[in-house]
Amino acid sequence: MASQLIQNSLLHLKTYFGYDSFRENQSEIVEHVLNKKDALVVMPTGGGKSMCFQLPALEFDGVTLVISPLIALMKDQVDGLKSNGIAAEFYNSTQTSETQLDIKSKVASKELKLLYTAPESLSGLQEILNERYISCVAVDEAHCISSWGHDFRPSYQQLGFLKKSLPNTPVLALTATADKTTRKDILKQLNISKAKVFLSSFDRENIFLEVRVADQRLKQIENFLLRRKDEAGIVYCLSRKSTEKLAADLTKKGFKAKAYHAGLDSELRSKIQEEFVYDKTQIICATVAFGMGIDKSNVRWVVHYNMPKNIEGYYQEIGRAGRDGLKANALMFHSYADVIQYKRFIEDGKNKEVQDAKLERMKQFAEATSCRRRVLLGYFGEHLTKNCGFCDVCKNPPRFIDAKVIAQKALSAVARVKQTEPIGVIIDILRGAKNAAIYDKGYQELKTYGIGTNISWKDWQHYILQLINLGYIEIAFHRKNALEFTPLAKKVLFDDEQVWLTKPKLEQARAVETKKTPKTSTLFNQLKQLRMEISVEENIPPYLVFNDATLKEIERNRPQSETEFKSISGVNTLKAEKYADEFIEVIKLFNTKKRKKKTSTYDETYQLFVDGNTIDEIAEERQIQSTTIISHLCKLVSKGKEIDLSDLVSTSEVREVENILKKIDYDGTLKPIFEALEGKMSYEKIKLSLAILKK
Ligand code: ADP
Ligand code: ZN
Repeated sequence: MASQLIQNSLLHLKTYFGYDSFRENQSEIVEHVLNKKDALVVMPTGGGKSMCFQLPALEFDGVTLVISPLIALMKDQVDGLKSNGIAAEFYNSTQTSETQLDIKSKVASKELKLLYTAPESLSGLQEILNERYISCVAVDEAHCISSWGHDFRPSYQQLGFLKKSLPNTPVLALTATADKTTRKDILKQLNISKAKVFLSSFDRENIFLEVRVADQRLKQIENFLLRRKDEAGIVYCLSRKSTEKLAADLTKKGFKAKAYHAGLDSELRSKIQEEFVYDKTQIICATVAFGMGIDKSNVRWVVHYNMPKNIEGYYQEIGRAGRDGLKANALMFHSYADVIQYKRFIEDGKNKEVQDAKLERMKQFAEATSCRRRVLLGYFGEHLTKNCGFCDVCKNPPRFIDAKVIAQKALSAVARVKQTEPIGVIIDILRGAKNAAIYDKGYQELKTYGIGTNISWKDWQHYILQLINLGYIEIAFHRKNALEFTPLAKKVLFDDEQVWLTKPKLEQARAVETKKTPKTSTLFNQLKQLRMEISVEENIPPYLVFNDATLKEIERNRPQSETEFKSISGVNTLKAEKYADEFIEVIKLFNTKKRKKKTSTYDETYQLFVDGNTIDEIAEERQIQSTTIISHLCKLVSKGKEIDLSDLVSTSEVREVENILKKIDYDGTLKPIFEALEGKMSYEKIKLSLAILKK
């Protein structure tokens, strides 16, 4: 019986949404709701919550009432449903009374499957708040009901009446907020204490996690963006002012960037948001005010200009990237200054202990020397058994060095000034700086003055921050951030304890990535262009026409008929009928052009490489392994083709390989070279160096 219900929904999943299978928990939830039982669904952003009430809505006789916090967002959701051929409307105070009446009569005559509204507008719907018309209630962003949550909305607190006046109607609460207190609060306030709770994994496997030192941020962001020329993304900043400054800076550099914050008037804000959703603005520099409920599925990256103050916020913000399941990037900049500023806020604010603990966990994540995803999910009580392989630490594990002497030098500098100076002065002393702050206090006379000139300022900072993280030193926030000892420090100073610290990473190397020329026209770009045309014609955001994942699959499978087109994930019946011809035409045209200039596999790699694509991008584009791409490049170089490989292997590395060759008996295999280099250089780099040398 029940499985029959699911069978229908599975059919609808394809017919209306174009998808072939359920995601984690979706089928269980749909079945549960179809059995008219209450539920609380906790899924990460992008997990596919909407499907949990939209599919049942198609089966019910009456309407499914969807409560959503922001009027601005309802339109997109309703447009999306309509574009899929589902009868949906929203109801709110901005509509004329005529429209409102019309909507209510549609509900009464059971023409509507879904009706979206905000809690504030419910009073206007009295006549239809009746089990004769309403089959299901879905409360989206349900954490807004709880003052524990981070988006508390008082208007949500009246929603408890729904269960009371519609006792036999299933109530489905949905949220991406994981913590237990909020969850309990939701159940209690909505009067659905017996509701089944469906908890999904919080892992967003497709998001690459990365943290960098906040040094020359603008330059680093610029380089990051040069590789993502038309990929939409959000940069989160701490202050309104910095959103505006960054947007202006990026605009100067030729990017389409806009600032967004709560200080702008609401009309301007909706305009900026709409331009972003419609792919007209590539980059939004925003305070945390931006993003809640934005369903745009092709946000490809999120950058945190500053470290967020807690992991919940961070996770919610990065969750806005890659909702379509395709690879996305989360890049966070981390600085000591941010931590100090937060500490100051916390000192002055309420709930000090909790805030402090949360900040501490955020810092641990930022400074992690092991898989970041494990740290992150661990925070939400989910424990991965393996390293993820998709974070900066996994990709580029830190190298530890014996740092006993470094630690002893730093600690004695702290001791000599009697634990009264902050990190900056300590480093100045170690490096023998000649500035007023030093001379005023006579620090040039100290025994430790100038004992660390061989280490750069930034590297000292890197080491001392680690000593802080490892618990050798603490920052006395009440005493002007002076560094002070913990009991552990004494062990290093007096008991000769071993200290292992990570080597600073070469952020700088990354910061000088060369400028790339625009990419050649790929089929994907042409499909995107067609999507944009349709978006303009139909006045719906591009991602609602088809999301990026669907376009990628079209690019890969190159369907030649409507039937083939319909088999693509994300293509439903209606859209297949409407758009198949146009898309197939683009594909055919692309294929003929391609055939005309028949090229070898090497040339194809060559072309993409000189067009500025990275190895990974070429591999993805061509659907072959990145090691194969490297081999192609090696072959091309050794055959004498002029290719600039300096991004992939430096001249000094090539020289190193050259030197090794002189020392060993080179037999044409890579392993002896790799071993002679003691693992310092990857096989790929060795291969590239050899190719360059061969030439
Ligand atoms: P949430 O509300 O949890 O943030 P959405 O409901 O907006 O997530 O879904 C995120 C994306 O995943 C949407 O683009 C949606 O179409 C897609 N999606 C949902 N369910 C499936 C599924 N079963 N298969 C493929 N894609 C899905
Ligand atoms: Zn990892």
